[in-house]
Amino acid sequence: MRIFLVEDTHDVGEAISRRFHQTGHTVDWETDGVAASEILSFTEYDLVILDVMLPGVDGFSILRKLRQSGSGVPVLVLTARSEVDDRVSALDLGADDYLVKPFDFRELEARARVLLRRRSGGEPTNVIICGDISLDRTNRNVMVGKREIQLKRREIVLLEILASRPGKVFSKDELLDQLFGFEEAAGENAIELYIGRLRKKLEGARARIVTLRGSGYQLVSDDAA
Ligand code: CA
Repeated sequence: MRIFLVEDTHDVGEAISRRFHQTGHTVDWETDGVAASEILSFTEYDLVILDVMLPGVDGFSILRKLRQSGSGVPVLVLTARSEVDDRVSALDLGADDYLVKPFDFRELEARARVLLRRRSGGEPTNVIICGDISLDRTNRNVMVGKREIQLKRREIVLLEILASRPGKVFSKDELLDQLFGFEEAAGENAIELYIGRLRKKLEGARARIVTLRGSGYQLVSDDAA
């Protein structure tokens, strides 16, 4: 999933970025409020993690503008312990959740998982199933039937995107957006490469990645037919 992190404290931002990156998410990290607000006006994310005290424009103003623009992207606000009213303000302005600093990264990850899950259609568990493929978002395990298959980080993310909406056609651009952040230059060839690898590893499963020439890819379950 694609996450936008707005945090001006460098070590905190770096730690959050690294943690989510390790679990296969794409993280765009911005430290300046003005720049962050602008990026949000033209980029779609699955989750925004937003610090309150920022240079330029504060987190509340960013959140207000975001909601006024009609965006329903889940927002998790990070507030400092001393800022008691902040939590109320954050929720009033349309934040989905907040976390008080300093926080445990495992808690941040758990809260983020809940919001990302809600975003992708609100499955009651952390396991996505398509055909006999199951993907456990908590421990990043992928099973085909009773067999665990070994996927690389980006292959898991790709499968997660496709399997979260079986039958939906994802264009190469959409997949590029979600798999790679701003910082990594990747072309459509990269998507073809990852699709090819993933397809090979899923051979024998009761779900297939279908290529629709000119429009994109979809995951189709044989059970649905
Ligand atoms: Ca700050």
